[in-house]
Formats: sequence, C-alpha cells, structure tokens
Amino acid sequence: MAVTDLHPHLRAEHIEQMSAFGHRLGIAQGEYLLRSGEKAHSLFVILEGTVGIFDDTTQERITTHQPTEFTGNMTALSDRRFEYNAVALTDVVVLQVPQLRLKELISQTQELSELLLRTFLVRRVSEVENKYGSIKLFGSRYCPAVFRLKEFFSKNHVQYVWVDLEKDATSERILQEFGVGVEETPVVITNDHKIFKTPSVEEIAAELGLSSLQDASVFDVVVVGAGPAGLAASVYAASEGLQVATIDALGPGGQAGTSSKIENYLGFPLGISGSELASQAYLQAQKFGCHISIPHEVKSLRFEGNVFQLSLASGHTLKSSTVIAATGAAYRKLSFPNLAMYEGRGVYYAATPMELQLVRGKEVIIVGGGNSAGQAAVFLSAHSSKVHLVIRGHDLRNSMSSYLIRRLEHDPNVTLYTHTEVTALAGDGYLAQVELTDRLSQQKTWKDISNLFLFLGAQPCSAWLRSMTCLDEKGFVVTGRDLTQDTLARYQWPLQRLPQSLETCVPGLFAVGDMRSGSVKRVASAVGEGSMAVSQVHAFLTA
Ligand SMILES: Cc1cc2nc3c(=O)[nH]c(=O)nc-3n(C[C@H](O)[C@H](O)[C@H](O)COP(=O)(O)OP(=O)(O)OC[C@H]3O[C@@H](n4cnc5c(N)ncnc54)[C@H](O)[C@@H]3O)c2cc1C
Repeated sequence: MAVTDLHPHLRAEHIEQMSAFGHRLGIAQGEYLLRSGEKAHSLFVILEGTVGIFDDTTQERITTHQPTEFTGNMTALSDRRFEYNAVALTDVVVLQVPQLRLKELISQTQELSELLLRTFLVRRVSEVENKYGSIKLFGSRYCPAVFRLKEFFSKNHVQYVWVDLEKDATSERILQEFGVGVEETPVVITNDHKIFKTPSVEEIAAELGLSSLQDASVFDVVVVGAGPAGLAASVYAASEGLQVATIDALGPGGQAGTSSKIENYLGFPLGISGSELASQAYLQAQKFGCHISIPHEVKSLRFEGNVFQLSLASGHTLKSSTVIAATGAAYRKLSFPNLAMYEGRGVYYAATPMELQLVRGKEVIIVGGGNSAGQAAVFLSAHSSKVHLVIRGHDLRNSMSSYLIRRLEHDPNVTLYTHTEVTALAGDGYLAQVELTDRLSQQKTWKDISNLFLFLGAQPCSAWLRSMTCLDEKGFVVTGRDLTQDTLARYQWPLQRLPQSLETCVPGLFAVGDMRSGSVKRVASAVGEGSMAVSQVHAFLTA
C-alpha cells in the first residue's frame, strides 16, 4: 500500500474548501488533539507542525502527520469511539472540522469527499493488517460467549485481538493477578483501558458507540435490517434526503456478510467477500448521513397515532411514517437436542475468516447442497486438511451453480457424500464426533471430526410482522400483486389504490429482499428491491 494513499496531501484549494466547515486552532507541543475513546470526534487538517498518532496501549507511534495531511479514519463519520491518541509533536496549527460539519462537507463536495473516504478505507485496511487499535478479548475457545463476541466484532468491523485462554497460560495467570477468575471471563479490555467482565454484546456495543439511537420524534422511514436490501434502502433514502434510521440485530451485511466470496455480483469480476461488500456499503450509507444502530432487534410493530411504532428488544420505541422491512432470512438448524451445546463449539453456520481461525488445518464436514455450502467448501478446502461435503440428494446439479460444481469436482481435497445425512453429534463440551447415515443402505458411520458447517437453507425473519401483515404459508411477507382482493379485504386495506409492488397489505409498510414472498434470493435482487422501495416510500409520503 502506497504511503501516499494513507497520507495524501490536501491541495491548497481543498484546504480552502474545508476552511468553510472548520476553524483554525493552535495547539502546544505535547497537547492532545484527540484521546482514545472520544466519540463523534473532529477531523484535523495539519497546517503547521507535526502530529503523532499513538496506540494507547503500547504507546507505539503508528504514524506522523505532516502539514497538509489530515487525521481520521472510519470512526470520523460515526458514533464509534476513536481508537488512538493524536498528540502534537511540535507546536501545531490545525484546521478542526467537527463531525457534523464533516458530514456536511462530504455531502456537498465531490472530489474532496472521494479523497477523504478513499483514505479512510485505505487506513482501515492498514489497521486490519497491522492490528492497530484492537480491543482485547480474553476467553476460552470453548466458551459460547467468546464466540458471540467474536462474531459481533467481525460483523461490525471492530478490530480485536483474541487471546485464547486454552492456549495461553500466561494470560490466565495475569487475569488471576487482576482478580479476574475463570468464571468472570470472557474479559474485554477497550482501547481506553476499561475492563469488562463477562460483558454482553449489547454492553460492548454501547461502549463502542455502535448502538446509539438517533433523536427524531417521527422518522420518514425506518429500515429494519442492514443486509444488502436494508443497506441499499438506507443509502438511497439518505442520499435522497429522507430522515432515515436503520437498525440491525447483529451487524451490517446480513447473510451476504457471511459469504467468503460473492462472485456473481455485477461490477466485481474478481469476486468480493461479503464482509468487504458490507463494509463498503456501510461506509456509503454513513457518507450520506444515514445513522445505523446496532445491535437492536425489532420485536414488534404496530400502527398507532397515525405512525408506525417499532418496539425494540432494548425497550426503546421508534416512530416512523413508513417502514422498510428487510430482515431477510436466518439459517435452518438440525433438530438434535444437543445441537445448541455445540453451536460455536464445533458447529458453525458461516465460513468466514473468523471460523477459519478455529478450523485451519483440520478436517471439516459441510452439510448442504446449495451455493452457500459450495462457496464454503471452496473456501475451506484451501485451508483445511479435508472437506467432507454431505448432501441428502443424489447430486448437486439441481441446487448449486455449475461454476461451483466444476470447482468442487476438480478439487481432490473435497469428498462428496450423496444421499447422506447427519444423524447424531457427540463430544464432551466440544464437538468431537459426527454420525453420518447413508439414506439408502441405512449404514451409519461415526467420523472423528470436530468441525461441522451447516448450510441447510434459511427461513424468513418475519415473526415481528406476524400480527400486522400477511405472510405466505412459509412465513415470507406477501406484497404487491400477490395480495389478492380477499386478502386486502381481510386486512382492511383502507385505500382506493392497490398496494405498490413492494408494499404489504398495510399502507406505508414495505418488504424487500429475502424476506419477501417470491423474491429471488440473491444479493443483486435484494439491493435492487431495497433501492426500489425508497421510490415507493417517496410516492407514499407525497401522495
Ligand atoms: C453463505 C452465503 C453465501 C451467499 N452467496 C451469495 C452469492 O454468491 N451471490 C448472491 O447473489 N447471493 C448469495 N447469498 C444470498 C444473499 O446473501 C442473500 O440473498 C442476501 O443477503 C439477502 O439480503 P437481505 O438484505 O434481504 O437479507 P439478509 O442478508 O438476511 O439480512 C437481513 C438482516 O436483518 C437483520 N435482522 C433480522 N431480524 C431482525 C430483527 N427482528 N430486527 C433487526 N434486525 C433484524 C439480520 O441481522 C440481517 O443483518 C449467499 C447467502 C449465504 C448465507
């Protein structure tokens, strides 16, 4: 990565443009411009002198900014906390641009906004590569809470270092010296040295500034779900000036975020990882001023006092004139009584770099014949000692794209088991054995394999809408022309006009992406529907 990409010099006209959004400030040598842990912080353009960026834990100097360079990373546009200390190495003169003004600048300028966003992205890559600004997670690989926190960090692009207490006896001793017992792990230490014992995901999200909810008495639109459909809706709604709030129960990216490589999304000839796609879309939504709050699960929706009221698991209520439901689908599970015991301890529902940390070099079993199973097999085959792909059917042709089938057929590391199913799991606290049964011969075989990936298809996340709108027999939300006159009458559709194509049987409530009945379960169609829904929201609001 070129140093100039990380530290571009602003031209004189850029600085002049930025001056309209900030103010000059003199800071004495040794003073802090920003401290680790600050939220909604300013961006500083260095006009005279030099500024050092330091890791708060190691005190290592990560970089030095010279005149015409600027501070800042992805946190500059969100409520997330800054992870470093920015210190004046000499007496400096800076241009301070507060966060709100920075957002205005980004929405009003083109070349400058591109330069800033590109630099933030490049800095993000450098932070990930160098593990700068990481928060620390101490906990055992066998602890489900550790898995939940790691999943949350990965989904939300929170840089972290995990110390596996099963492998690192020294850390366990250090924790004991601090009076932290095993029963109090996992322990999270933030960049500003706060210690959290057995924290919940919600607690950590609040600490990191991810879950704050925007103030507005009534939003124009609330987007529920930040998968591809919800992110697209958020980008379009915010860019078109609607007052929008987006919430997600776990993190941006949805199912697509768990894909190791999406190869069929237009514009990415080399493919793009789901996490990368989600990260870029997340930044794009923020660029247009969309506020995304995570983790917030919507529990129910009602229409009261002429507005939609969304009740969140956190106890908050959001009010909005319209709602775009984009809560997608969640993976199906096997119906073994002991399945929950192994989730995160040998049983996984996604194959991302996070799961890879746990299974690298080992044998894995993948169950499922769809594209998600195929992608996982290709991804894991490159890093594990053997992939056993298990399907109930006769072959993959009816369920998997042919480009994936071709790759798997030519991969000597992948063995396909047809008409086979998983019939039992065993292991003491951690998965150790998986029983496979041949459905034709009924022959049972125990495999001593402790990594099982399940890709069994998905079911719609529509429970929160059940009392309000019409779902099909599988629980997908029915919209547009699929709503018959009878259904509309049953749900007391109150208007002369018929529902728009993505509108449900409740005026102003739209459903998009995988949760919608009849939708094509693809990233591109989810993105398309998310953006289309915004024009239908406009039509509704202006009618
Ligand atoms: C492993 C895998 C690989 C895939 N590969 C490809 C591919 O290569 N190409 C392709 O085109 N498609 C692929 N797909 C399919 C694609 O990812 C989906 O079609 C797409 O993600 C659907 O987007 P969505 O926004 O509708 O829903 P989702 O992606 O399911 O997102 C829904 C979001 O809503 C949130 N949510 C759910 N319930 C609530 C609630 N009550 N409150 C708040 N938030 C909630 C979830 O946390 C989630 O973030 C793949 C899917 C998987 C699982």
